[in-house]
Amino acid sequence: MQLVNGYELMKYAKENHLVLPAFNTTDYEMTLAIVKAFDKMRLGGYIQISSHNLKLSSPEIIANMTREVMQREDISVPISLHLDHGKSFEDVKRCIDAGFTSVMVDSSQLPFEENVKEVRKAANYAHYFGIPVEAELGGIRGKEDDNVPDSNAKTDPEQVYDFVERTKCDSLAVAIGNVHGLALSPQLDFTLLKKVAKASPVPLVLHGGSGIPFDQVRRAKENNLIKVNYGSDLRKSYIKTFGKAYDLNHNEFALYDVAKQSVQNVIDTATSIITEINVKKQIS
Ligand SMILES: [Zn+2]
Repeated sequence: MQLVNGYELMKYAKENHLVLPAFNTTDYEMTLAIVKAFDKMRLGGYIQISSHNLKLSSPEIIANMTREVMQREDISVPISLHLDHGKSFEDVKRCIDAGFTSVMVDSSQLPFEENVKEVRKAANYAHYFGIPVEAELGGIRGKEDDNVPDSNAKTDPEQVYDFVERTKCDSLAVAIGNVHGLALSPQLDFTLLKKVAKASPVPLVLHGGSGIPFDQVRRAKENNLIKVNYGSDLRKSYIKTFGKAYDLNHNEFALYDVAKQSVQNVIDTATSIITEINVKKQIS
């Protein structure tokens, strides 16, 4: 199967009552593992990469590689390639031109009016090519953001409707107590989430999924949540494999074997996340 357009994937999520995991890639092994995990679970979702991580390769390398892996592995579940934390209009444009099928514009560090302006500009370009846009309102703290003042940390429900209407964004990343990375133990603010969900004309996105207890993610799902991002969990599985191999043998050089094991370990982590957020029944 080819990469699926982001609007098609959103439709698929809605029709099947799913919250779609979005797994962050960096390189070939991560890409292979993520795609295989979706296929193994027979459920679709997002493979994504941030502007920051794209500095190691390029939008063209990542898009070509993902398409190639999808075809070679004969993948038959819907997967979109998404730009995570697109930091500039140029990044958004270059990813769409390279064949990404969904994008995020992250200008949440800017004052409200400037955030609106940046998202609207990117959305005009993306929509011309039929690509949906995720935007962020409020700042999600942690590693991916380094400019989030505390006062601006949570999404203001009063701003949500106006922001979505004016930017024309298709989904909204919210700051409701979620943080990037693994070090902190986040507690989602469900009262705020409910207010934001009520105010938002578009589905919501949760960043920093890795640290959030699964029962909280399943609860959040009931509030028009369409996508939840997982980066750190998968990266940890990947890196751990190499660390273990080195610990066992300081002269280890069988890169193929260790890389193959790391792919398997990332598949295992990704499939368990997919199971936890969509397959396990909500205990209420
Ligand atoms: Zn994020």
